[in-house]
Amino acid sequence: MTTAPMLETRRLNKRFGGVVAADNIDLSVETGELRCLIGPNGAGKSTLFAMLCGIQRADGGQILLAGRDVTHMQAFQRVRLGVGLTFQTNRAFHQLSVRENLAIPRIPHDAERRALGAERLAVALETFGLDPEDETRAGELSHNQLQWLEIAMVLSGYPDLILLDEPAAGMAGEETARTATLLKRLNATGLTIVVVEHDIAFVKEVAQSVTVLHQGRVFAEGPVEAITANEEVRKIYLGK
Ligand code: ADP
Ligand code: MG
Repeated sequence: MTTAPMLETRRLNKRFGGVVAADNIDLSVETGELRCLIGPNGAGKSTLFAMLCGIQRADGGQILLAGRDVTHMQAFQRVRLGVGLTFQTNRAFHQLSVRENLAIPRIPHDAERRALGAERLAVALETFGLDPEDETRAGELSHNQLQWLEIAMVLSGYPDLILLDEPAAGMAGEETARTATLLKRLNATGLTIVVVEHDIAFVKEVAQSVTVLHQGRVFAEGPVEAITANEEVRKIYLGK
């Protein structure tokens, strides 16, 4: 018997007027995989994430989570099934404290999932040096701390799959490295991760496999070494 992938899309489509943001996207991510999604600006990466978590409705095609068709499910229903997502734009509540922000995404789960979820959250808090009892308002945190808090918030929902859209955007080298370290640590616990990131060094550091989007299509896919060496990919993505 074969197990269904953690995440699968079948011929997923999305248009905004004349712009085709998703053009028959077929994607398959296995349980425990750490996949990087790359592509030039406007390739459709954020739109794909928005459709995966149920914020944007697909025009056509299917989305499956662990074999279950969630195409027509609302975002909150998908979260209950274990999808977590952070956005490019900040989502933590600036008026609330770190502690309060971390308390928001709690969802009732069985004991096994709670134990694993709590362990992953603890790894994140430790890696980022965040204190879950911190009463500092999120609005007073630095840019990096806020981005880290948002990753921790996603983990507070104890997901099986997380989608991170540019988690290291605007970070300097040391913080980017810390973010990469966390993704590898989380992945080592079995968490499935799909991450959009522009920084090729980051991609090389964390990814096992890479999917390249270009003009709403899957342009290339494969092991990170092959993709970063691919001439066509370098042309559209790296501009050389
Ligand atoms: P990426 O995240 O890869 O930079 P996006 O998914 O943000 O790409 O955008 C893909 C394409 O869809 C772009 O041409 C963008 O302008 C367009 N687009 C995205 N969101 C909207 C929207 N809400 N309304 C209109 N056009 C959009
Ligand atoms: Mg984007």
